[in-house]
Amino acid sequence: MKRQEMEKMNVLPKKLRKVRTALFALLLLAQPALLAPLGAFAADRPDEIIVMIEEEQQEPQAPQDPQAPVIEVSPEGLTFVNGVLIVNKTYSVPREYAPGVNAEAYAAFEQMRDAAAREGLTLYIVSGYRSYDHQANTYQRYCSRDGREAADRYSARPGHSEHQTGLCFDINSLYYSFGDTAEGKWLAAHCPEYGFIIRYPQNGESSTGYRYEPWHVRYLGTELAKSVTDSGLTLEEYLGITSAYPAD
Ligand SMILES: [Zn+2]
Repeated sequence: MKRQEMEKMNVLPKKLRKVRTALFALLLLAQPALLAPLGAFAADRPDEIIVMIEEEQQEPQAPQDPQAPVIEVSPEGLTFVNGVLIVNKTYSVPREYAPGVNAEAYAAFEQMRDAAAREGLTLYIVSGYRSYDHQANTYQRYCSRDGREAADRYSARPGHSEHQTGLCFDINSLYYSFGDTAEGKWLAAHCPEYGFIIRYPQNGESSTGYRYEPWHVRYLGTELAKSVTDSGLTLEEYLGITSAYPAD
């Protein structure tokens, strides 16, 4: 058989095979000597490996970003960001969490409603506390009607609705035009004085995960509500957090 033919068959002649084996053996012998000057993990110096690992562990931690939010999860599964209970597309509450309407938030709403009434405006709650199962039904209905992708822009998946906290209210109407009414304008201008924010403001969808909702107010207490509103940021931007469902 000619050499060309043997190469075609991927078979080396016997003489060449012997040379190749010898070269391979030489390389194996030379390896530790080649690697040692580089300070690499030469197999004959295990003590050096241990020292290197220990040094790595002793390296000081990178300093914490002072702007980074402090995120704490309570034993019952609630997420607090800088002390604020957060429910959005990233952070959920368990199905069992059923606090009902928050008394402090409701009292604040009554004050706000009375103040609006003194100016001849009528504010009322169309939706307040909603349980996990209630939200599951609502979300499913919207999915059936508009499809999941569209529903996700305006309706929360169960466990992800802020309404399950009892800290938010939908006021008067669920139409976008509410923002242009006298009541809608008054609400946007005055709700921080009573501890509320317009939770899903115009142009906030990229951070809040939701389209503009002029009717949905979230109770934060007056100090924080004013601070968030004055900042011009969404609550997510203010706290430095995301609102996005994990990819399917
Ligand atoms: Zn709402």
